[in-house]
Amino acid sequence: MQLKAVKTNMMTHSRGIVFVVSGPSGCGKSTVLHEVFKKRDNLYFSVSATTRLPRPGECDGKDYFFMSREQFQAMCNNGQLLEHAEYAGNFYGTPRGPVEEKLLSGFDVIMDIDVQGARQVKEKMPEAVLIFVAPPSMEELEVRLRGRSTESEEKVLRRLEAAKVELNMSTMYDKVIINDEVSKAADELLDIMDNSHRLNDQL
Ligand code: 5GP
Repeated sequence: MQLKAVKTNMMTHSRGIVFVVSGPSGCGKSTVLHEVFKKRDNLYFSVSATTRLPRPGECDGKDYFFMSREQFQAMCNNGQLLEHAEYAGNFYGTPRGPVEEKLLSGFDVIMDIDVQGARQVKEKMPEAVLIFVAPPSMEELEVRLRGRSTESEEKVLRRLEAAKVELNMSTMYDKVIINDEVSKAADELLDIMDNSHRLNDQL
């Protein structure tokens, strides 16, 4: 199945497209992306490296590569990260190798990364499509962050502060999706992806 999808993809364009998806922690990005992945099979989720501790239910190698600060620093020093940033006291970065490999084999790549990372990716890969997922309101974001109840009060406040900064930077993105309903937001993202391919095919 996957092989066929790659072949179909390669017939129209040799390289996949990078879609950078950002949005404040708690905006529901992961749920939206989950819906998108159900509907596409020629799509690779870029698994980030992080120094943050796993949340209950998170899997090493699937959700993130969880590592120590020393391990993260070593990856950074060895040029293994396409971009990296500090977010709410933890380090996050995108491993370069898998992204390049997947793009070459015709897969699209989705990166769920913050605004600092998005800017670095756009500098290195100007053809990347930047999509910002916004919560319906700050009040709703706070409700969602507290509802998750995996974070301490201090961490919730840090993430709310970070969200304000991120929302102000949404203007640098190619597209903004308001996540007031997951299936609608997922369909919007799928439309953006299809349109990006159509535009590429016309070039
Ligand atoms: P969380 O800790 O809630 O999983 O993620 C916190 C923030 O870090 C989110 O905005 C997420 O998009 C961002 N993030 C996750 N992975 C990366 C990465 O590899 N690079 C950058 N720059 N940000 C990331």
